[in-house]
Amino acid sequence: MSELILQVPITEERPWLVFGACRQVESDLFFPASKAQELEALRICATCPVRDECFAHAIESREAYGVWGGTTEKQRRRLLRRTA
Ligand code: SF4
Repeated sequence: MSELILQVPITEERPWLVFGACRQVESDLFFPASKAQELEALRICATCPVRDECFAHAIESREAYGVWGGTTEKQRRRLLRRTA
């Protein structure tokens, strides 16, 4: 049986995370080691009710690693470069 754990802790800065679709998924998926894992994480993000909040958090706090708010780290780096 696989262990279900949070990918990141719920904090005062991320109260919306309690509603995240990733809460029921193994944490490794959102810090993917393969393209297949990354695509699966993005598929889960697409169903998430707090995707907008998560995306805004990832951009504002410049989350460097993992899938956040339906974006990969590479996509966020590109976005931040464009808006710099
Ligand atoms: S958008 Fe993705 S990473 Fe963010 S809370 Fe939802 S499922 Fe988790």
